[in-house]
Amino acid sequence: SEEHLAALSYPSMPMVLTNSMPGPASAAVIDRAHKAQSPTRPSVRGRLVIDSAMGAGFTDPDGNVFLDMSAGVAVSSVGRNHPKVVAAIREQCEKLMHSAGLVSETTVALAEKLNATMPAGLKDESFTWFGMSGSGAIETAIKFAKAITGRNQIVAFEGAYHGVFHGSLAVTTRENFRAQFGPLMPGTMHLPYPYCYRCFADLKHPECGSLCSKYARYKLTTPNTGADDVAAVIVESMQADGGYIDPPPEFLQTLREVCTAKGIILIIDEVQAGGGRTGKMWAHEHYGIVPDMMTWAKAIGGDLPLSGVTIHERFRDKLPLGSQVLTGAENALANVVAMANLDILTDPDDDLIGRAAVVGEELKAELREIAANSHFIDEVRGRGLFIGIELVSDKDKRTPLDAKRVGAILQKCESQGVRIMSCGRYGSTIRLMPPLTTTRAHLRAGIKAFANAVAEVEAE
Ligand code: PLP
Repeated sequence: SEEHLAALSYPSMPMVLTNSMPGPASAAVIDRAHKAQSPTRPSVRGRLVIDSAMGAGFTDPDGNVFLDMSAGVAVSSVGRNHPKVVAAIREQCEKLMHSAGLVSETTVALAEKLNATMPAGLKDESFTWFGMSGSGAIETAIKFAKAITGRNQIVAFEGAYHGVFHGSLAVTTRENFRAQFGPLMPGTMHLPYPYCYRCFADLKHPECGSLCSKYARYKLTTPNTGADDVAAVIVESMQADGGYIDPPPEFLQTLREVCTAKGIILIIDEVQAGGGRTGKMWAHEHYGIVPDMMTWAKAIGGDLPLSGVTIHERFRDKLPLGSQVLTGAENALANVVAMANLDILTDPDDDLIGRAAVVGEELKAELREIAANSHFIDEVRGRGLFIGIELVSDKDKRTPLDAKRVGAILQKCESQGVRIMSCGRYGSTIRLMPPLTTTRAHLRAGIKAFANAVAEVEAE
């Protein structure tokens, strides 16, 4: 119930949000971070400093409270200090912190618990490799697909974000991440992902006849083009950093069909969309497909170093024994946190995943009303609490709103105590991905702050 969630959401957060930031304590941390941290992380200037968790939100060192409409990039889906997670980690600390390469009951129990969340086709028919980051899971899935098929090429999609290591970066298309690091893993190809709001062929779905699906089928099946050497197709169930895109169902269904016919491994990346926020535990369940491999991380480990590749049982004997081990993987603390997270997410009393579906529809309806009276807010899309909002300077031409004004909107949200993030190929898509434990009242307050911020920038 909303009353129960209120205790987890923002236990003592005022509904009228105003912050004065950055305060002197935050500025001092930023100064030190600037000197001590690698410049390859996003610039620390002008960024929020987090000091302590407040249920679904957080406070900064100056005592300001922030409503978190981003869940730390879709990570803290059950908030940042859920009492059940705190209890699990405290208890495990006393017993065993890390298994350091030995078999730990916590890893086995987590694998079994994960299995219980799998849809038909993977449930009781899969096993899991455990890693420590989303990038590492992608890297591993690519290696495994090559070993299983004996082929070399990997097909991915425009707009994809799969991580920053050599292989995972090769299948990612963010130029600011790729520049200066090439040549990346050879043998990768990118095909169009159905970003229907800005169609590459200037067509409308469904009148386009699902051109992206047709083109993918063509590229994966035409002889003498390298199609016979494709080891894997890697695709986000719902494209995340590329713009919070909910693809038409036939797109993933076509990929499934073609991969099956051609013996290609279909890797579904659930690192950001997985874990319940779309209204189903795994986002690909919306489209009625079963992957051969599924990568997951973020919300499952709740920011502890934990990720995984869940792999269909029929490939077990094709994987080289003992070939992919990481020091620090299968950490006992990460394992018990993941188990607590899964228990909270699947608890039938709160039904956080079912609730995400319902609340998401309510929020989209509210946002569409706001959009109708706004110059900048155009399409509102997504499923559950995975919502994308297009900001444009011209609704007819769908011109992406420039970085300066998007930045000003996000800054104005922060000065009202609300953290919101953008994404997308043009940086002009707002993504709403709050913790699933956030009360309706706080979600509405977040949207109100966003609408105020947009209206102010429109007026400037
Ligand atoms: N895959 C997807 C879909 C992601 O969104 C991300 C991170 O944002 C990754 C992979 C990489 O995960 P990590 O940052 O844990 O390496």
